[in-house]
Amino acid sequence: MKKLVPIKKTLWYNLGQMLFNVVTCTSKESLERNYEKEMTKVVKFGGSSLASAQQFVKVGNIIRSDEARKYVVPSAPGKRNSKDTKVTDMLYQCYALAEEEKDFSAALKKIQERYNSIINGLNLTLSLDEQFKVIAENFKKKAGSDYAASRGEFLNGIIMAEYLGYEFIDAAEVIVFDEDGEFEAEKTNKILSERLKKCERAVVPGFYGAKEDGTVKTFSRGGSDITGSIVAKAVHADMYENWTDVSGFLVADPRIIENPESIKVITYRELRELSYMGATVLHEDAVFPVRKEGIPINIRNTNAPDDEGTLIVESTCRQSAYTITGIAGKKGFVAVNIEKDMMNSEVGFGRKVLAAFEEQGISFEHVPSGIDTMTIFVHQEEFEGKEQEVLAAIHRLAKPDSIEIESNLGLIAVVGRGMKSTRGTAGRIFSALAHANVNVKMIDQGSSELNVIIGVRNEDFEAAIKAIYDIFVVTQI
Ligand code: ASP
Repeated sequence: MKKLVPIKKTLWYNLGQMLFNVVTCTSKESLERNYEKEMTKVVKFGGSSLASAQQFVKVGNIIRSDEARKYVVPSAPGKRNSKDTKVTDMLYQCYALAEEEKDFSAALKKIQERYNSIINGLNLTLSLDEQFKVIAENFKKKAGSDYAASRGEFLNGIIMAEYLGYEFIDAAEVIVFDEDGEFEAEKTNKILSERLKKCERAVVPGFYGAKEDGTVKTFSRGGSDITGSIVAKAVHADMYENWTDVSGFLVADPRIIENPESIKVITYRELRELSYMGATVLHEDAVFPVRKEGIPINIRNTNAPDDEGTLIVESTCRQSAYTITGIAGKKGFVAVNIEKDMMNSEVGFGRKVLAAFEEQGISFEHVPSGIDTMTIFVHQEEFEGKEQEVLAAIHRLAKPDSIEIESNLGLIAVVGRGMKSTRGTAGRIFSALAHANVNVKMIDQGSSELNVIIGVRNEDFEAAIKAIYDIFVVTQI
């Protein structure tokens, strides 16, 4: 039987909780005062923040304006304008020539010119000639595309260290991967924290590390965000600042919503939901190292350094402005609808169906079910090539009455820590979608009440996001 809590006890508990919230609820200003005292911030700068000498100057000013910014993690130079090519991509292309035994010298020269224009623009007396000789030799020896790509951050790190007068630490010496190329979190933390204890200010290039035999290995694209987080953990930073070219996370994708509002504070869990569904400001794996340490991440804009950006925290008493924190989504899903009479009473049916997907190495996204039906949502790209094998396996293992496939579906995640304590959120979402003439194909609300996932046809995707944004942010009814 449910235990009844005496009213008085609940009242005291609530009062206590309120007091606790007042004491622990920190404003951005007071957070910053604390950081000034404790003085350790790790700052990561993305490719567009380091694309040219002018951008380097902005970055230098940002770093010098706060003593606490002691550890710097640079990306490789990114695009200077929309038609430009990122140095990382130039390196991949250059290395592809080397692999095909073609002449890559002109392509490598172009890359060196990018760096030279930064060095000259900053009036540094630094030459990367030796480095480029070594790189050319290693390309000839086919050192691998990870090695090739990593040189973007490696060289930018050398320039950055010289420009700031900080120590340069090659990430290959401190970021460890195992033989299979999996990142070794514990080993890395041990080596890196020991190494960083010895230097007060350092530049550690992002994106790569090395296996124990010295083979360079990179994270997936955008992985400098992960390096920044790893460094923040190793030095027990008070803040991990991630500087990019936008002033933080936006409530919705600006390609769909014109000038969307920005998110001031977001929790790690909310962020994970949004990044997984396509909000791409930060690499989706970047929260893991700092999350366990309770280190906040602040997304900042190099081109607008006075903007507060988005603060990503473990937990907060600050409510988001609009019940929901953000909306994100992805197109390109397939729903596999399975029917079988009396499915509800067949123990193990779900396991057998999922085993069919597992056999083919396909991971599933959502599994809404009814009494005699079960639907599996999977990525269309992953599924397409193996669909007949999966269907055969479902028939073999689970013996359903029928299977139907529906393709070209989009999934939208409406995320918000505020939803838990607000009545009618789901009602508002679905009435907005009905008014926008969007047919809802699937609804999934996790028990955490942190998000509602909605399946729609690809062609309704944008209209659905607009309708949800409108109801929560624009009209706020
Ligand atoms: N330079 C790498 C990329 O373009 C890594 C990064 O910037 O984080 O993906």
